[in-house]
Amino acid sequence: MPGCCHVELAKTTTGSGVYAPYVNSTSFDVTAPLDADSVLIRDVGPRDGLQAIDQNVSLKAKITMANGLIAAGLRRIEAGSFVSPKAVPRMADSRQVLGAMPKAAAAREALVVNVRGAHAAIEAGVDVLVGVISASDTFSHRNVHMSKADAITELRRIAEVAETAALPVSVDLSAAFGCAFEGPVGVDVVADAAEQVTSTGAFEIVLADTIGAAAPNDISAVVAAVRERVGSDVHLGLHLHDTRGLALTNATAGLDAGIRRFDASVGGLGGCPFSPGATGNVCTEDLVHLFDALGLSTGINLNELIAVAAAIEHELGTKLPSHMLRAGPRFSHLAK
Ligand SMILES: [Zn+2]
Repeated sequence: MPGCCHVELAKTTTGSGVYAPYVNSTSFDVTAPLDADSVLIRDVGPRDGLQAIDQNVSLKAKITMANGLIAAGLRRIEAGSFVSPKAVPRMADSRQVLGAMPKAAAAREALVVNVRGAHAAIEAGVDVLVGVISASDTFSHRNVHMSKADAITELRRIAEVAETAALPVSVDLSAAFGCAFEGPVGVDVVADAAEQVTSTGAFEIVLADTIGAAAPNDISAVVAAVRERVGSDVHLGLHLHDTRGLALTNATAGLDAGIRRFDASVGGLGGCPFSPGATGNVCTEDLVHLFDALGLSTGINLNELIAVAAAIEHELGTKLPSHMLRAGPRFSHLAK
């Protein structure tokens, strides 16, 4: 909780250069440190949320969603991915989504898995490149068709491309709390992978509970092991899934461990098409409601965010797993 945990980060703009200011960027500076009473949420709904659903979502609806999130106060949006449209057909229009988002209001982020994708994302005007490394070798093969070692090599090349373009690289470390194919993943294995990611110059590692297997003690253990290994030279974040109903509990464990950066998906949209059973990104509005209640600053207008979720629910015609959509914020409609 606030006040009883160390601040996530000590280092700012000097030393190894990983926090060199991105002076050419006019978007929100994702690399800046946060104070202990602030949290920074990246909404992954337009990418992670929409890529796995069965129905097609129009370009117009995607743009309305992304810009609605920005209007509600989100400062980081994972807007799409630049990967093979054969592998992930839902993301084939990521370039148009990025192009329709206001440039200075929020960081427009996109997932890439190779240099080709990095170049395409940069051409589309991306503000932050999001790489992905798996703690599990089997999931790495399933997700990006590369071994862990090959994925790190490719990440290094992506980082070089990003550096030339003066863009920061955030890296999702997937299967950090267990793998759909290998089961539990040791904390040392996760820490080893995080150390390798740090060596590429990434400014941030987002520890992902891809299959929703983590319990609060796992969050504490993995964050502590990774922090000890990578030091304070890199920001750490959490990407939680509510597959087994533990996402908000795990978020509080993350706060206690000093984490101030969280991924979430508006409406609780999403999952992962390459990891069986990986349903349910933690819902952004439920997470904001929790952080508001804890007195943390999110910069997000909860009611406006709920309106964005309601619009998506209406667009999809499917009930979304959002507590806020059903009940509203606490005390928002008292009995007369
Ligand atoms: Zn996810």
